[in-house]
Amino acid sequence: MEDGYKHRGLRRQLVRTLKKKGIQSSTVLDAINKVPRHFFFDEALLPHAYQDKAFPIGEGQTISQPYTVAFQSEKLEIKPNDKVLEIGTGSGYQACILLAMGANVYTIEYNQKLYERTRKFLPSIGYRPKFFHGDGSQGLLKHAAYDKIIVTAGAPNVPTSLINQLNKGGILMIPVGDSKKQQMLRLTKVDDKKIKKETFDNFSFVPLLGKEGW
Ligand code: SAM
Repeated sequence: MEDGYKHRGLRRQLVRTLKKKGIQSSTVLDAINKVPRHFFFDEALLPHAYQDKAFPIGEGQTISQPYTVAFQSEKLEIKPNDKVLEIGTGSGYQACILLAMGANVYTIEYNQKLYERTRKFLPSIGYRPKFFHGDGSQGLLKHAAYDKIIVTAGAPNVPTSLINQLNKGGILMIPVGDSKKQQMLRLTKVDDKKIKKETFDNFSFVPLLGKEGW
């Protein structure tokens, strides 16, 4: 796979678009500028790779819109070596962005075919999160606790197990709502008894499945 001047130019253009839409974090913008999103698309679909749009990746699932990836990544306030759990590996693009930001990434995918495809593909382009297959709607207890948790599918509620699996000071970014739209929430675990909740705009994700999902 080639990452030539044309691709790098399209990526810089995408970064400018995201800046105009309000993304400010240089760590996030640098990661978007670094990860070749076109590697996640067939050659024929290249013109779509650097548009700020979600795109089908098979199995009825999508690679998230770059703005959504950037927004959730920014609000997670990633610091180098943060231990991050991503629920919904999908194409693996979001996991690559988190790795490029210096995080230590654990990612779990429910769909077996996507899990197998992405587990093979990401190392082939130089990105190595820790991959897990299964229902992540209750987190990944075996490797808890995490500094940050990002849910990349729309949940009906905030699963308590995800809050329980955060370290003190940890952050959970999760879209919560119905099947059409979800409000983005940021929950910060101030301490074991206090959770700070912030609400942001609506987004539209595919549904979170499993025990705490739909
Ligand atoms: N983060 C992905 C990316 O960068 O391409 C996009 C994720 S896609 C919008 C949502 C993903 O969540 C799908 O791949 C879906 O199979 C997965 N998913 C849904 N419910 C899940 C669950 N309970 N546990 C783990 N993954 C789940």
